[in-house]
Parts: sequence; C-alpha cells; structure tokens
Amino acid sequence: MDYISTRGAAPVLSFEEAMLTGLARDGGLYVPATVPSLSEADIAALAGLPYEEVAFRVMRPFVGDTFTDSEFGEIIEKAYASFGHDARAPLVQLGPNHHLLELFHGPTLAFKDFAMQLIGQLFQVALERRGEKVTIVGATSGDTGSAAIEAFRGLDAVDVFILYPHGRVSEVQRRQMTTPVESNVHALAVDGTFDDCQAKLKDMFNHFDFRDEVRLAGVNSINWARVLAQVVYYFSSATALGAPYREVSFTVPTGNFGDIFAGYIAKKMGLPIKRLIVATNRNDILHRALSTGDYTTGEVHPTITPSMDIQVSSNFERALFDAYDRDGGAVAQLMTELKEGGFHISQGALQGLREHFGSGRSDEHETSQTITDMFTRTGEILCPHSAVGVKVANDVLGPEPMITLATAHPAKFPDAVEAAMGSRPPLPPRMADLYERSERVTRVENDLDALETLIRSRRTA
Ligand SMILES: *Cc1c(COP(=O)(O)O)cnc(C)c1O
Repeated sequence: MDYISTRGAAPVLSFEEAMLTGLARDGGLYVPATVPSLSEADIAALAGLPYEEVAFRVMRPFVGDTFTDSEFGEIIEKAYASFGHDARAPLVQLGPNHHLLELFHGPTLAFKDFAMQLIGQLFQVALERRGEKVTIVGATSGDTGSAAIEAFRGLDAVDVFILYPHGRVSEVQRRQMTTPVESNVHALAVDGTFDDCQAKLKDMFNHFDFRDEVRLAGVNSINWARVLAQVVYYFSSATALGAPYREVSFTVPTGNFGDIFAGYIAKKMGLPIKRLIVATNRNDILHRALSTGDYTTGEVHPTITPSMDIQVSSNFERALFDAYDRDGGAVAQLMTELKEGGFHISQGALQGLREHFGSGRSDEHETSQTITDMFTRTGEILCPHSAVGVKVANDVLGPEPMITLATAHPAKFPDAVEAAMGSRPPLPPRMADLYERSERVTRVENDLDALETLIRSRRTA
C-alpha cells in the first residue's frame, strides 16, 4: 500500500515509512494513495467479534507487507491488553436513538490510548527489526502526551519528548505525563498555548538538519497510523447497531480533526455513515469553516475542554486534500495562506465537505448543563469533552441511530465535572495513587533553539 503527501511534493512511502516519518518532508500529511473497501458481507461479519479481531480485519489492508499476519495479530493483542474493559469500546444507550461510545477504558483514560498503545507496539517491532533508534517529539493539549508517554515508557529504541502548554492541562493529565520514572520519557512544559507547541513541533520537522540528526519521529494525530487505529471503533460500534444494513451517524468532540477523520475513512471503506457531526467548544473554527467556508484563525480561548482548545486543526488538511480533488498544489497554497491568518474554502470544496460533515458548538454553560442533565436522566457521568458531543448530537438527532464518542473518562477532568454536578468522580482503582507520585518536568521557553538544544542534550537513545 502506497502513501502520498497531501501537498504532492514528498516521496511516496510504504506504511512502515509513513508511520516512522509522521510529517511529510513537503510539510504535508500522508494519506493512502487509495482507500481499500470492505464488502457488505465483510462488514456484516464484524458484528459481535472481539475488538481485536475487528481491528485486525479493518486495518490489515492498510498495512501492506510491513508486518506478517501473525506479527500484526500479536501487536494488536498486546496493544489492547491493558484496557480496563473486555469490550474495549463499549456502547451505552443515552436515549431512544442515541448511544455513547465509551473510548476511555485505556491506561490514560482517553480515546488517544486506542491509537497510541497500538503505535507503541508497531514502533517497537519495526525499529527492532531495523536495529534503529528514534526520538519521538509530540505536542499535546493534554491527552496525546499522557497516552504517548504511557505507550513508549521503557522502550529502549525510543526517547519521547512531550511539549505541553504550561498551566493549561488538567492536573490528572499533567501527572500522567510527569510521574513515569523511566529515563526515556521527558515532559516539557512550554510557555505558550497548544498551538504554539504544535507550531514548534512542525518547525522541528521542517528543520531537516535537526530532524535527521536526532532521527525525529512524530506520533501526533498527523501520524497516519493513529488515524488508522481509530477507524476500528467506527466499525465495531456501527455493526453493533445494525450496519451495514442500517445507516448510523456519529458525533465527535473535535480538536485536531483526527478522530472524526477516521470516521470519514470508515465511510470511504464502505461503512454506511449518514452524517459525521463535528462538535466544537467555543474555539469553533471548524464549525465556522463548515458553515461559511471561512477558515480564519483567531485567539485560543482556554475552556473546560482543554483537549479541544485549538485553532489550527492539523488533520483538516487531509479532508481538504480530498475536497480539492487530491490537488497537492492547491492544498499547499491554502496552507501558505493559513500561515498569514487563514483562507476561504472554495464553493466546490465546501460542498464536497458538507456531503460528509455537519457541525455544531457548545459553549461553557451548555457543556456544564449537559453534564448535569445527562447524570439526572441517565446516570451517566460525562467528561466535559464528551458533554460537548452529547449537546451537539442532541440538537441534530434524526431517524438513524446517533453514536456520540465519549473521548475521556470524567475523572480525568474532575474540576469541571464537580462544578457541574457537585461531586468529584473518582479515578479507577488501578490509578488511585496518581496524586501521591512525585513529578518530573522541565519548563522551557517557547523558542525553537531552546527546545532543540534541550532535546539534543537529554537524548539517551
Ligand atoms: C484529543 C481529544 C479530543 C479531540 O480529538 P481530535 O482527534 O484532536 O479531534 C477530544 N476529546 C478528548 C478528551 C481528547 O483527548
């Protein structure tokens, strides 16, 4: 299977190369040259299978000959063994036609574990075979970083550096990044916003001397392997509710557009998805872009849903690539305009996007109110991000089943949940001592040179 860049000017890579590279050398993102499809019979056969088996069947065609069947099967088994729920991604009913897909039973209590645990195993097998070591640098608004550190801690072929915005992540998120004791993991608190962290990460990837010197690898949601891992639960949940014989819709709390883009891939593979609804908080650039075509970045406002406090949604580039008929030059042009503050999506491209994606937003008050309401009406305690999804989904419920993605466990954001319902959701027993462990973190200025110097000097690999 070949992977090509959304900006059309980087080498074509295999799955393994695209996975180990992350960002393409022309600044673009890798996507499969063609998306494989599953037949109606293939999809029907997924219903009721163990999650790992669904994962194997859905992802196998994308992996090509990078791994043998037995290697890939073992990787998947290991990836999900540490989850705290046998179903891995259980569905819970919220209303007559509304279901919640609980994606928070992994080791760091957010859906990012689905992709990151898999990537940890994929990297380990691929790097061992090549006899190579890499430096992984990631930017996080909280959940990616903790999931990455958890997935890579103790792997000797990898050093992991995680950039997070100082003071803008929840205490549980911070502690999950700063308490692991392994010497190959490094939490860096950057004086800036998540977008600053993400911009610095991109600058490092575009600084080829540094990139080659430290053998930089990326595991942000721009990494294709992460998107791929997330395609699986669209299939497992939709088939549980009657697909392929019945259409379903999904609402996805969205920041970087990675999770919902995985739903779009599932649809391209043949899963009958009627609507993919982007749910945003007050940082609603995606909602505005899909409503009006105007993608102009503004200031990032901190909210009770910090994992969605984003103005530049990296994976949106992948959707634009398709909407612009896979014209890499056109995408490169838009991304140049973005650096100057924004761009306008052409009428044709906007129409194309709207065939798949709808959108809505939830402000702070509505999100909080939704946590209270849902607890009263269903007993379900939502994290604020999931509440943004539920609020937006409730506004657009239709005749087809709606599946809203619950992206984090409420205990990961206890302050917001307590403010909404008056009591603090407890951590699952397996991580109850998180508040007692000692922390290790380096504060660093929002400056490329400073970051590169620090990474060079701390590398162990
Ligand atoms: C990362 C994250 C999101 C946003 O997901 P994207 O793939 O970036 O759109 C939403 N909720 C939670 C809890 C997250 O950690």
